[in-house]
Amino acid sequence: MNKPAPDWHAAASALRIDGRAFVGGQRVAPLTGETFTKTSPIDGRVLGEIARGRGEDIDRAVASARAAFTDARWAGKAPAVRKKVLQRFAEKILAAKDELALLETLDMGKPIQYSLGVDVAATARTIAWYAEAVDKIYDEIAPTPASALALITREAMGVIGVVVPWNYPMIMAAWKLGPALAAGNSVVLKPSEKSPLTALRPAELAIEAGLPEGVFNVVPGYGHEAGEALALHMDVDAIGFTGSTRVGRKMLEYAGRSNLKRVYNELGGKSAFVVFDDFENVDRAAKTVAGSMFFNQGESCNAPSRVLVHERVADLFLEVVAAEAPKYAPGDPLSGSAEMGALVDETQMKTVLGYIEAGNAEGAKLVAGGQRALTETGGFYVQPTVFERVRNDMKIAREEIFGPVMSVIRFASEAEAIAMANDSAYGLQASVWSDNVNRAHRVARALRAGTVHVNQYDEDDITVPFGGYKQSGNGRDRACTPSTSTPNSRPPGCASTRNDNPPKRLRRLPRGRRQWTGEAGSTAAA
Ligand code: NAD
Repeated sequence: MNKPAPDWHAAASALRIDGRAFVGGQRVAPLTGETFTKTSPIDGRVLGEIARGRGEDIDRAVASARAAFTDARWAGKAPAVRKKVLQRFAEKILAAKDELALLETLDMGKPIQYSLGVDVAATARTIAWYAEAVDKIYDEIAPTPASALALITREAMGVIGVVVPWNYPMIMAAWKLGPALAAGNSVVLKPSEKSPLTALRPAELAIEAGLPEGVFNVVPGYGHEAGEALALHMDVDAIGFTGSTRVGRKMLEYAGRSNLKRVYNELGGKSAFVVFDDFENVDRAAKTVAGSMFFNQGESCNAPSRVLVHERVADLFLEVVAAEAPKYAPGDPLSGSAEMGALVDETQMKTVLGYIEAGNAEGAKLVAGGQRALTETGGFYVQPTVFERVRNDMKIAREEIFGPVMSVIRFASEAEAIAMANDSAYGLQASVWSDNVNRAHRVARALRAGTVHVNQYDEDDITVPFGGYKQSGNGRDRACTPSTSTPNSRPPGCASTRNDNPPKRLRRLPRGRRQWTGEAGSTAAA
């Protein structure tokens, strides 16, 4: 018999939050004794007091991580042992799925069924995938003359600072933690001040799974305090950062001002979704873009927020999109049936409403939504919103809104579509919709984006690298195998080859790789 669905409202009322940091294998109060109050965006309820980590807290956590790395209590374990521990960690995450899902929903506002079915599930899957990789990655022998033997070995880097955003708090952390821990590094994680809860609880689960104390530390706090201190720290070897392009720039500055630590930046996006008039199933394209755009309240780095449609099919496409949008109207995130939840906080809601105002002011035509919703709940909700007659030079087409706002732009030719799609500071993802296989491949190659989907969007797989071109970043999360371990595609801790920048003739070009030496990309097709 199936277990009855939990009463999420009752579970939320019973929840007691421990907001202390996690350092050296235990909960610790912040050294200054300072905290900040965390409220839920779903209704404004107070969730608890969270440690406000500052420089001294980061120093303590980095010292703990460094000690764990130096005495090799984790890096020195046999790969098979590390694998077992990480597998147990993944199992513990799954066993705690209801609690973690509830924390995620209360913290950042997404519908509970997605916290459960997407966020917790993907987090466990990510840790389990890297656990499996631990004892399957081999080192290399260089093809030197027989008189010499050169071994190219992959090694842990040391202490990895991880700074993540609030939109998929657990998944973003897992994408960094998985490879970093698998390779034997120690980690100090600084979650977003807007979503600290699901960073703290997994650290306890990791200890229960057998991860040695000090290997995984979590210091909550503000970006300009704890985040900056971590990125400037002289004893941190690399930063795995996911967040805005604005802060990604700072991360590079911090590295330059401190110890030149490596910075792997996963940044913002304004992904183009390009629909040609030779794609017959306009209905499917329109329903897919609505689903991908409004998923997670539009707070996804790869949301297809710039939709380029051939003028011959634009009216039909818009008819379907406008009919689809209201199906994503926000509802109670704890109900188990809402398709959209609350935006992460009032600031974010105001930012999104500000962009809607800008769209109206610039002359774009509002065809769905455009208003705040569910104000009576005390939470921060915005209707799924669609603008058409957008020009690519408008603010709503150029800037990342990070909310449920779609901009539809018409085009007349393939060349115009490619030029507009590429005319963006960002290059995270893109999508081409065409029944002409030659055009689909041609356009996919021409689009400057880390991932280009063909006739689908956002089919997600841990085996496919995720990362951007241009100001969408220089790092690659997920798949970390020898075939993706070129210097600029390595996630933190995945590898530190002795020969860091091998001459071209030593590099093997994996099948499907689009570049020689530039950014690694991927093309996904339905
Ligand atoms: P943000 O850049 O404001 O914050 C991200 C993290 O950086 C937070 O932990 C924050 O506390 C910290 N931070 C802020 N200022 C800092 C500073 N001065 N020094 C050090 N750390 C600092 O981003 P956000 O609003 O949390 O997240 C939204 C952004 O993340 C969007 O731009 C989105 O596209 C991007 N994102 C990218 C990906 C990807 O894989 N490319 C995935 C998810 C989100």
